[in-house]
Amino acid sequence: MTVFDVVLTDASLAVNGGARAVSEALPPMYPGGMRIGAEEEAAVLDVLRSKRLFRYYGPGEAPSKVEELEAAVAEKFGVAHVLAVSSGSIALASSLAALGVGPGDEVIVPAYTWIASAAAVLFVGGVPVIAEVDESLTLDVADVANRITDRTKVILTVHMRGGASDMDGLLELARRHDLRILEDTAQACGASFHGRRLGTIGDIGIFSLQFNKILTSGEGGLVTTNSRSLYERALMFHDVAGSLRASLKETGTFVGTTGRMSELQGAVAGAQLEKLDDILADARRNHAALRAQVAEIATAAGVTWRHQWDPAGDAGIALIGFLPDSARTGQVVTALQSEGVPATRLFNPAITDYHVAYHWDPMIQGRSWSSRTPWDAAPDITRLDPSSCPRTNELLERAIHIDVSPDYTPAQIAQIGHGVNKVLAALLG
Ligand SMILES: *Cc1c(COP(=O)(O)O)cnc(C)c1O
Repeated sequence: MTVFDVVLTDASLAVNGGARAVSEALPPMYPGGMRIGAEEEAAVLDVLRSKRLFRYYGPGEAPSKVEELEAAVAEKFGVAHVLAVSSGSIALASSLAALGVGPGDEVIVPAYTWIASAAAVLFVGGVPVIAEVDESLTLDVADVANRITDRTKVILTVHMRGGASDMDGLLELARRHDLRILEDTAQACGASFHGRRLGTIGDIGIFSLQFNKILTSGEGGLVTTNSRSLYERALMFHDVAGSLRASLKETGTFVGTTGRMSELQGAVAGAQLEKLDDILADARRNHAALRAQVAEIATAAGVTWRHQWDPAGDAGIALIGFLPDSARTGQVVTALQSEGVPATRLFNPAITDYHVAYHWDPMIQGRSWSSRTPWDAAPDITRLDPSSCPRTNELLERAIHIDVSPDYTPAQIAQIGHGVNKVLAALLG
């Protein structure tokens, strides 16, 4: 008999009528959003009072908040060029356009990411090809190697839930096959890989400032790169008049769309950036405390932790463990939720969730907004095929994700840890 043959019947569990482990309401998981305060207020009022709401001009002499944000990110992250845009999705499309992705090109994306990563490839006319993730819940480098064809142009790696991809492995693979790397850092703002900020290691990186992310301006995004020509191409894509603003004419001008950041967003994002160090320090401290509290019982119950390519660089916003098999994962998550633990299961085939390629129905059916689609130009690939990534589904199906807010108090962490320990101990019988 394995531990998973034990049914969770322990009467002390909240799911069976026992006392809940977490007695108070926990702070919502909006790390930057929950810290909006006087600084954001003052910055927004500056913009309104100056009447300059547009980054490129306005009445009076007020400096552009968006430009100031770009300079501050460049300085803080140690990257040469930063372009602020209206969303993470536009940041992705602008970066893919900067890298020259278009009809007939394949871009490798992980089978576990927010759907926007793959949708951006279609938006610029390319075709997303999914690859497996490993125990880090980021691209499995060996599997990526198997998906490379002579049409592959870019590896779009996603630093999911605050944790880095294997950037050493990906850079080496990309070098061997002459591919470019786009780092989707929407969920890992400020995290790093062996001392270098995520989003600044590959050819180009993107961030989202949507409300769920580590820093927020409600909506918003950033493009980061050390290449002047990639920066200029992203600039031209994100601003339909950008070809008039680009200074390096030798990169060739083209016309894109309009996804500029407003000064109001820039004001909020600039104030948020100053809070990044505190947010990360608090999340990392809470992550370490929670993991230490549950480590012993988790190990006894056969839980293994998500692999971290750089534990010290992880943003700390999520504690993710794998149960030994998926059969009881749903039951365990229900029991955790009854205790008040902010736990979710990362994949359930029965519940549509656009974080897993298995559920990307429009792409699986090869549909886009027109009867002619990007797949027409990629004849070897007729549609996105989720059955090609069984390992990702298998891993995610037994993965339990616990939110780690930077705003938890020590008492709240103690209660969450107690809830986890109660449920895992009950599993042990
Ligand atoms: C949120 C997110 C995006 C898209 O960002 P938006 O600002 O919502 O467009 C892209 N990739 C990942 C991994 C995300 O989590």
